[in-house]
Amino acid sequence: MSKYRIFSFQDETIREAPEPAKVRGFKCPICMAPFVEETTTRCGHIFCKKCIETAITAHHICPTCGKKVTHKALVRVFLPNFN
Ligand SMILES: [Zn+2]
Ligand SMILES: [Zn+2]
Repeated sequence: MSKYRIFSFQDETIREAPEPAKVRGFKCPICMAPFVEETTTRCGHIFCKKCIETAITAHHICPTCGKKVTHKALVRVFLPNFN
């Protein structure tokens, strides 16, 4: 337990999953929890519906890649359940 992992929201979400073998299912890069009403952006990144709506209301960009995102560009998607 000597390893500190400080997750910077902006830095960490840009990288690909650092430990692929340990990844179980998918998690929202905004709230770090399993998706609730997963929603994708035009750039292909997936977030909770509420998370991405809140994010683009504030910043109008994808929190992961920084591309411009509008509410109209959001698409509800349905992922397989990995749990
Ligand atoms: Zn979320
Ligand atoms: Zn993106």
